[in-house]
Amino acid sequence: MPNASSIDTLITQFAKLPGIGPRSARRIVLQLIRKKAQLMQPLITVLQDSLEHIVTCTDCGNIDTSDPCSICADEARDNSIICVVEDLADLWAIERSRLYKGRYHVLGGTLSAIDGRGPAALNIDALVTRAAQPEVVEIILATNATVEGQTTAHYLTERLAACSVATSRLAQGIPMGGELDYLDDGTLGAALKARSAF
Ligand SMILES: [Zn+2]
Repeated sequence: MPNASSIDTLITQFAKLPGIGPRSARRIVLQLIRKKAQLMQPLITVLQDSLEHIVTCTDCGNIDTSDPCSICADEARDNSIICVVEDLADLWAIERSRLYKGRYHVLGGTLSAIDGRGPAALNIDALVTRAAQPEVVEIILATNATVEGQTTAHYLTERLAACSVATSRLAQGIPMGGELDYLDDGTLGAALKARSAF
């Protein structure tokens, strides 16, 4: 049985994770202690394995157990198109759609004057190098529809202007199943601007 302080440390560590407050952390720790064999030991094993084997892909910034990552190494994927995302969670979201078969580039965040994050803090130079490769014809700037995301996309457009690639961005507008009356003015405005032929 661990002493009280190690239980407290465990709760504190779990409470640091996104989406988990102190109450959830206490419930998780209690459950782990009650089910050591079924939950705690497998978790320790997979965490240790992840710690030892997960690496960042030097080509695209994705994480995987190999470098280059499985997406960069997949010869069936389209080399002519690179989708630029802010974060790994965005890459995973696009992969879940199963609709995109090109390559990725993970920036590792957005430009932010408030947080003092300039271009050098992001994975931008490597993107410019990749964009200059002759097989690349299009760069999709799939940054978020936030002020920082759009500022970053504009900056990237300027940086990529010297390369002979087309740049595109994701459409903004009405979500699937969305009703016009419930949309905020900004979303409805963006949807009107981005309207397409029926
Ligand atoms: Zn990769």
